[in-house]
Amino acid sequence: MAPPIIIIGAGLAGWTTVRELRKLDQRTPVLLITADSGDFYAKPALSNALQQQRTPAQLVTTPAAQMAATHKVRLLAHTRVLVIDALTRTLRSTRGEFSYRHLVLATGAQPIRLPLAGDAADQVQSINSLDDFSRFHQRLTRAAGCGDKGVGGGSPLNLQSASEHSRRHALIMGAGLIGCEFANDLAAAGYRVTVVDPSTGPMTALLPASASAQLQQALAGLGVRWHFGATVKSVNWAKTGGSIAVAESARVHQVESVLQVELSNGSLAPVDIVLSAIGLKSDTALAQAAGLVCERGIVVDATLQTSSPHIYALGDAAQYATGRWGVAADAAATSVAGARTMPYVMPIMSAARALAATLAGTPTAVAFALMPVAIKTPALPIVVAAPAPGTAGEWRSEASGQWQFMDGQHQVRGFALTGTQTARRAEQAKLVLA
Ligand code: FAD
Repeated sequence: MAPPIIIIGAGLAGWTTVRELRKLDQRTPVLLITADSGDFYAKPALSNALQQQRTPAQLVTTPAAQMAATHKVRLLAHTRVLVIDALTRTLRSTRGEFSYRHLVLATGAQPIRLPLAGDAADQVQSINSLDDFSRFHQRLTRAAGCGDKGVGGGSPLNLQSASEHSRRHALIMGAGLIGCEFANDLAAAGYRVTVVDPSTGPMTALLPASASAQLQQALAGLGVRWHFGATVKSVNWAKTGGSIAVAESARVHQVESVLQVELSNGSLAPVDIVLSAIGLKSDTALAQAAGLVCERGIVVDATLQTSSPHIYALGDAAQYATGRWGVAADAAATSVAGARTMPYVMPIMSAARALAATLAGTPTAVAFALMPVAIKTPALPIVVAAPAPGTAGEWRSEASGQWQFMDGQHQVRGFALTGTQTARRAEQAKLVLA
């Protein structure tokens, strides 16, 4: 029997490729190999789960075994692929060697880690998977429950326990999309939140300055404290137990913070938890070792094929050759667009559909439609379709809560909407490069 199609990774990219393939082809054997449990969950839900009082287990929408049975795939969970040999079309994993007819790399991205000083630098957490979120949740539960410095145990987190300990303190490194979403979620769930970022405001890379200022104000209204123009220098275990007295409602709570964070501006912050949200980097390790061309991600062509025949990539791992986030990949867009990663849900859906058709025998180029992103900051709802990096032009305010990014030829290249204006998303989308 011919070897199976092998997919590495059971995130949104891996599972969506399986689902789309099965719509076209029920018979070709598929082997899905993944380092995690393979349970299906919506990763965007990780950054608004606290306020909704959802535990990590409740975020799993379909257990791995059910996904595998429904889509008729063989699943090797908790299995890591170690080496790919593109010449012999084989791979080696922690559970043996396998041959493939086609290989799909859906290996996602890894959080960028900054080298920090301090004896508790290894306590800084990032959240890019359900497992990461479970550890974070456990840590928060611990912080809300007893304030000692171990990790693990603790009762399930709920809003009541969080508000009982409402002065527990989370410091977030990074005021980008993910940092702001967690800041909103933690603050709304009753935590003290401090955000540290070297830039001048939240989400400055994506938003016009005045929209960024609105977001800053809205989150400050929830109690979020901002340190802009600053970075985290060191994280240490608090030497004195980190006790701080905090006046609240005419009472004084004695709160133990376990970590002492020093910022580049000289500020010292006693905190319970440090979350790093400074960005992700495509996971290209396997691809690079196999000799595939990689830049910011695994380089793929319009059909999502890598530099090696029979090996494809999509999702956070891939660097797409055509189109740009927010613009249809028609001929004009292709010729002007730079290759780029697109670490969002909608591009994965488009890529998985095209790849499934190719795997089923009809080579198909991916076409990216306009893909505005809704930012999950309920304190100030935002929808943004930012221009591609490097697009010359400027943001212009069209009305309160409404901006357009205009290029030199007066073409609309992006838009941002806040508050009630987010309802105008479809109308604005039609104007981009119309
Ligand atoms: P991943 O989900 O990272 O999956 C990678 C898979 O590869 C994992 O199963 C991993 O175990 C496996 N793997 C890696 N290496 C190996 C190996 N060597 N062997 C075996 N298996 C391996 N996007 C939006 O559009 N809207 C949002 O609101 C939004 N919110 C977000 C909120 C958060 C907190 C985060 C972190 C991201 C958010 N995103 C959002 C981005 C979106 O969730 C991601 O783009 C998407 O989930 C990435 O899916 P993926 O399958 O490419 O990668």
